[in-house]
Amino acid sequence: MEPWNIVFLIGFIIYVVIRGIFEHKSKGNEQLVSRTDRRELLLMVIVALGTMVLPILYLFTSLLRFANYRLPVFLPWVGAVLMVAALWLFWRSHSDLGKHWSRTLEIQKGHQLVRHGVYRLVRHPMYAAIWLFSLAQGLLLENWLAGWSAFVAVAILYFVRVPHEERMMLEFFGQDYRDYMQQTGRIFPRVRHN
Ligand code: SAH
Repeated sequence: MEPWNIVFLIGFIIYVVIRGIFEHKSKGNEQLVSRTDRRELLLMVIVALGTMVLPILYLFTSLLRFANYRLPVFLPWVGAVLMVAALWLFWRSHSDLGKHWSRTLEIQKGHQLVRHGVYRLVRHPMYAAIWLFSLAQGLLLENWLAGWSAFVAVAILYFVRVPHEERMMLEFFGQDYRDYMQQTGRIFPRVRHN
């Protein structure tokens, strides 16, 4: 296995471990509202294909070899830096969201609006982390399919899901979420004009 593929694999394992830890923590949650419909399930299949199935096929079989290519040597280094940033933000956002995390769109019993930590600056730091991870994947795996499948999957997830997620949050938290939207950007902090 190429050294950059090993860097990706280590990052991937850390990503899965972070998710596993917080999935475990949110296990006992009681749902109040669930928006787990066919669209949400399809999104999860697309994300699993792009971020797991294709990279694993590329790393452990020769099926995707036809789509290999070479990147300029400095780009995988950029990918490694993005990977570290992605994992840091993925960890921070899980830790700040705590038990309010859910795989699909849900509101739980006792759900509170989180506005601290990385959520003070942006409303979707976890999706920002996943965007960063998908860029890192593209720069570390030198294969058109396995490299960029995550970027395409995350783009679909982000642009399809976020409007529904924000609508759900607005329905549930009303003015508090409206105020929060005024103070934050989706994945980039808001530039303030004082
Ligand atoms: N979009 C967020 C969270 C993703 S997890 C991010 O990218 O960081 C998805 C769940 O998080 C949603 O079902 C919603 O219930 C919950 N959620 C999203 N933003 C939240 C917030 N600011 N406070 C509390 N829960 C939130």
